[in-house]
Amino acid sequence: MQVIESVYEMQSLAINLRAKDRLIGLVPTMGCLHAGHLSLIEAARKVTDTVVVSIFVNPIQFGPNEDFDAYPRQRARDLELCEEAGVDIVFAPEPEALYPRGFSTYVVEELVSRPLCGISRPNHFRGVLTVVAKLFNIIHPDTAVFGQKDAQQAAVIKKMVNDLHFCIDILVEPTAREPDGLAMSSRNRYLSPTQREDARALYLALQAAKALVDAGVRNVDRVVAEATHTLSSHRRVRVIYVSVVDRCTMESAREIIPGKCLLAVAAWVDEVRLIDNLLL
Ligand code: AMP
Repeated sequence: MQVIESVYEMQSLAINLRAKDRLIGLVPTMGCLHAGHLSLIEAARKVTDTVVVSIFVNPIQFGPNEDFDAYPRQRARDLELCEEAGVDIVFAPEPEALYPRGFSTYVVEELVSRPLCGISRPNHFRGVLTVVAKLFNIIHPDTAVFGQKDAQQAAVIKKMVNDLHFCIDILVEPTAREPDGLAMSSRNRYLSPTQREDARALYLALQAAKALVDAGVRNVDRVVAEATHTLSSHRRVRVIYVSVVDRCTMESAREIIPGKCLLAVAAWVDEVRLIDNLLL
């Protein structure tokens, strides 16, 4: 496995690989890898010849009062996990390599990125799209793999790929969960044992809402109320949003159409911000 920090070196290697007709798969991550990331790597391995994992805590997708400095970093362990998972190349640049002094060009999507996390995290998706577009131009992947855990992020990236004519297949893999249902996330490390218990509320809320839909309920307000009630019954949990949206556009749904709608939730568990979602 090669570990590359230089943009130039990565770009040259990618151009060489493509000249040899090798299919390149990219899994962009912020590191602190867990089984969710490993499932994306596995998916990339199935459809490409050379798997590149990028590890980069992207400063421009964090707001001024968010957890950029505190974000967990574990480079040595991540490299071990990538090696075990059969990754060919890890691209792990320093922030200055991607954002040299004077950097001033950003990618903004103006529809799918607006609701949900776009409201509570202004500029977040601008940061995500900018770094993903840069990674696409540096690594030249044929396929890039993302997680359904960040459903709005995946939808915004698909929109950018379509709008800007990137020739890249976007795969979206299911959410990997802990045995009790909590979606795996690098941020789960912030949770104390008592907060960890309350964090389960997100999964319970999604399940309670899904049970209503499975029983034939199609009224959005009723389903949202059920999920909100479950979240609010946990002492440390404060709701940021609970919303039924179209799974592609992220627009609020007027009624529930099974297979087409997504229930998305975001909540604080004390000072830890968690998100989750379920296809209805
Ligand atoms: P992150 O390192 O949190 O930026 O995530 C990198 C990629 O892994 C993104 O495409 C995420 O959607 C995906 N991911 C994060 N958590 C999970 C999970 N629990 N299951 C599947 N994919 C995930």
